[in-house]
Amino acid sequence: MSTQSSVNRMEKIVSLCKRRGFIFQSSEIYGGLNGFWDYGPLGAELKRNVKELWWKSMTRLRDDIVGLEATIIMHPNIWKASGHVDTFSDPMSTCRACKKLVRSDQVWEMLETIPWAEAIRATAPEGNLDSEALLKWAKGKGSRLVPNLALIKDPEGFLARVTQRASELDPAGHTLLQLLCTADANGPLCMPCPHCGGELTEPRPFNLMFKTYVGPAATEEDIAYLRPETAQAIFAQFKNVVDSSRVKVPFGICQIGKAFRNEVTPRNFTFRSREFEQMELEFFIKPDEVVQAQTGSIATLDGGPVPTEPQPNWGWEIWHKYWVEERFRWYESIGLKRSSLEEYWQKPEELAHYARATVDILYKFPFGTQELEGIAARSNFDLTQHQTHSGKSMEYFDQEANQRYVPHVIEPSAGVDRLILALLSEAYEEEEVTDEKGNKEVRTVLRFHPRVAPIKAGIFPLLKNKPELVNKALEVRDLLRPLMNVFYDDGGAIGRRYRRQDEAGTPFCLTIDFDTIGENGPEKEGTVTLRHRDSMTQERVRIADLPALLMAQIS
Ligand code: ATP
Repeated sequence: MSTQSSVNRMEKIVSLCKRRGFIFQSSEIYGGLNGFWDYGPLGAELKRNVKELWWKSMTRLRDDIVGLEATIIMHPNIWKASGHVDTFSDPMSTCRACKKLVRSDQVWEMLETIPWAEAIRATAPEGNLDSEALLKWAKGKGSRLVPNLALIKDPEGFLARVTQRASELDPAGHTLLQLLCTADANGPLCMPCPHCGGELTEPRPFNLMFKTYVGPAATEEDIAYLRPETAQAIFAQFKNVVDSSRVKVPFGICQIGKAFRNEVTPRNFTFRSREFEQMELEFFIKPDEVVQAQTGSIATLDGGPVPTEPQPNWGWEIWHKYWVEERFRWYESIGLKRSSLEEYWQKPEELAHYARATVDILYKFPFGTQELEGIAARSNFDLTQHQTHSGKSMEYFDQEANQRYVPHVIEPSAGVDRLILALLSEAYEEEEVTDEKGNKEVRTVLRFHPRVAPIKAGIFPLLKNKPELVNKALEVRDLLRPLMNVFYDDGGAIGRRYRRQDEAGTPFCLTIDFDTIGENGPEKEGTVTLRHRDSMTQERVRIADLPALLMAQIS
């Protein structure tokens, strides 16, 4: 459950994102568009770094994965075959009073952080109703906050009803909230609208795909969809990749790109957006029977960690676990602590019908622990579906096994925007520091891992009106900028410049001073002050050593 301090923390992160140019509301000058976000100068660099690190870890640092870049709009039959046209929907309810749409399965989660619902729950701790407190609230604050709540319209009448049904009250306060929003005392209990306390309608499915028309005719036949995930293009191009590249199962195809979902209730900043980016891998493996026939055994999970080097006798289960562990390792390598992440194995009843196992990697966001990535063992469902719908064989001829089969797949599917939000949440810190004059102040710092930090080094001439210092600083900038993103700043006191870079998450700052230009003797000439963001310690470093020293931290 979100606490006040986590709400405040989130508000501070959102405000820093706007103030420093990480994330802006899309189309803000026209009032914004709900569920759409733009990345400003710092956000764009951060996002680019994250995508490049993912791409590098998947393709360049491995022999068994290749990349793909497919179109956003594809043949609509792809979404028929994948099941998205028929089943890619969320349950949606409409509020009878304010007419807002709400995702029915998220109502309770939303109500956890909404002050008016918290106030009602507080009148029935552990399910024991304090009638007087509830009545007082209904006639006072409640009447201003949620005028559409049935209780507010007839406080005494509703209180009598609740008192009669006191034995049904649950400690979480769900029944109490339902009783107080349902106008018809004899009808079934409704769900309360989180926005105004009105009654929500029964859930009905709402397809999340954005529709468009291809070509000028705009008839039913021209309907196409903006892709709701990047994965399907990989399945659709499976044959072309196999035929054109020297890949052999087990191998993967990965893709980074935009995805679109017409989410019913976009919320939690960028966490649930309508346009977002995904980084997806489809890792194709041999069916277990083929592995068994070829190697005489199938390696099983023994509860311990899976070897980091894949083995020929791995079946789907161990491949799945391997990818879960790889993904955790990657998140740690870009600065998310293991203790900020959770591994959630979906229960059998939660699994999609074709999935054999799905693990969600969750991040402890300020608004709750939520999904960052899903890693699903999807059998050969997708390729088989495309084989059936397109009439084209998706079989792979395995020379080692001398056999044809439709490969099975493990799918690690991550959201770029959720990861950016996780990195911002992980990095954000306010700490009390003492300045040179002994004054205490709060410094806001983003402790990004140097690999993802949007700016790697701030470069400052001590004084901007001293040409020797300025020229030397520009020389340092020109030395480093082909290698990394640096920021030259000659404005204001050095302490202020450090603080500005702390807020941007810049791990290193370099100050060019009189020592650098040899005014205090030859031994320090050609050295700069390197200041570390996290410890705020400073050291003297030779300019010539800077490229290697910094590259070792950021690559
Ligand atoms: P959720 O249950 O949160 O809606 P999902 O299980 O539907 O997510 P997937 O279809 O597995 O998500 O998509 C893979 C990843 O894409 C998610 O783990 C998430 O990081 C990202 N993602 C999905 N929907 C959104 C969205 N609306 N906004 C931002 N990222 C998203």
